[in-house]
Amino acid sequence: MDLKDVRVTVAGLGVSGVPAAKVLHGLGARVTVVNATAGDKQRAEAAELEALGVSVRLGDGDTLPEGTELVVTTPGWKPSSPLFTAAAAAGVEIWGDVELAWRLRKPGAAPWLAVTGTNGKTTTTRMLAAILAAAGLRTAAVGNIGVSLLDVVLGDEEYDVLAVELSSYQLHWAPSIRPHSAAVLNLAPDHLDWHGSMAAYAADKGRIYHGNQVACVYNTADPETERLVREADVEEGCRAIGFTLQAPRPSEFGVVDGILVDRAFVEDRANNAQELAETGDVTPPAPHNIANALAAAALARAYGVPPGAVREGLRAFTPDAHRIAEVATVDGVTYVDDSKATNTHAAEASLAAYPSIVWLAGGLAKGAEFDELAARAAGRLRAAVLFGADRALIREALARHAPQVPVTELERTDTGAMPAAVAIAQDLARPGDTVLLAPACASMDMFTNYNQRGEMFADAVRELVRASAGTAAGGGRAGD
Ligand code: ADP
Repeated sequence: MDLKDVRVTVAGLGVSGVPAAKVLHGLGARVTVVNATAGDKQRAEAAELEALGVSVRLGDGDTLPEGTELVVTTPGWKPSSPLFTAAAAAGVEIWGDVELAWRLRKPGAAPWLAVTGTNGKTTTTRMLAAILAAAGLRTAAVGNIGVSLLDVVLGDEEYDVLAVELSSYQLHWAPSIRPHSAAVLNLAPDHLDWHGSMAAYAADKGRIYHGNQVACVYNTADPETERLVREADVEEGCRAIGFTLQAPRPSEFGVVDGILVDRAFVEDRANNAQELAETGDVTPPAPHNIANALAAAALARAYGVPPGAVREGLRAFTPDAHRIAEVATVDGVTYVDDSKATNTHAAEASLAAYPSIVWLAGGLAKGAEFDELAARAAGRLRAAVLFGADRALIREALARHAPQVPVTELERTDTGAMPAAVAIAQDLARPGDTVLLAPACASMDMFTNYNQRGEMFADAVRELVRASAGTAAGGGRAGD
């Protein structure tokens, strides 16, 4: 791929745009970066790029610079942006960072095992990388996960195979990628403002299957993922492989008596299945996370990894912070931080994992509705403690579908709100219960991000632990 002297417009500065501009400049392209806003941060980034010889146009993100031959976009820009309309009208291609990385791969570069879905991407991608590493393969978890694909593709380190997390935004602008195998974990409404419709969102997710060589992995509990496989244009011989929490049929991965089994990549799959691991090898062993492990195992087995490496990799895997993380057990009540459950689909998965819950929820709903979630969770809720801007939506849904569940609402939004919510939850919980932070909402109305929301929850719980230890020791530690 020769970009020398090609006139490339990069849409957007920031964590994705600045590195892309530098890489393109380094490859000899004639780069112009455009960015609609022109605050202090953008001026500083612009100055850094201009010092290298890249031109930057601040304050106008709509007009396509004269002579542009290729647009490379950062993920934040909506497909409906005027710049893209102008590019399309001029017959100019638009690539995202993933497409650029794919095009710049060196000959013989590592194949990609790719993961997308509304929820569970990061977890599954990391599980997959752990399994591949346990098999002795040189690998990394990359993509929408903190490690830039461009850096990996252009760097000197050699890999056998990559575990690649891809978001729907990245897939939208990655028309030519061809993963070895790929999985769509699930599909629920999310980011519809960006994609324009559920159909467009699903179609973008489905791109991950195009050109797959060995396996298209889908979720048997989510028929839409299977439909995307049927519609995909794949290499001859590529197989559709389902994963299920039930006993698997031929060409599926599933669970039999607490054992994760492969009934796809085995001899005589009509009569045989291969044991891979036990549900207890997966952390946490919640149903949706077993599903993630099955999807990771299916991709690894598609690549030819032996069964023993699946068990070893799953055992070695530890989830990222704020994803169903057990913080502590105090007076027989377990406190779980799933701050990363920022939408209803994710919260529903973690609510399904515990039998008796005091639920902490609320924040920014992003247009979501809570009726289905309230109806499904009703039987598991001891009580709900609601906070944040859109808490009324959850309260109303609970009133409609779970009127027996006592609801406490917190009006305060200051930094003391989370400890206050935890204190209320402590009073409501009974031994054996789980106090679960799974907000089903974004956090930015009260917190910097979901990390901070989770940290404040965990801090408040650790305070309970200290207070409880103090009481147990007899003296208390007031004044500490
Ligand atoms: P993503 O990268 O897609 O955001 P993560 O692995 O970071 O996904 O998990 C985000 C949240 O989604 C978790 O905290 C959990 O609540 C939920 N989750 C994880 N896996 C699944 C799944 N397979 N189905 C539904 N929800 C899930």
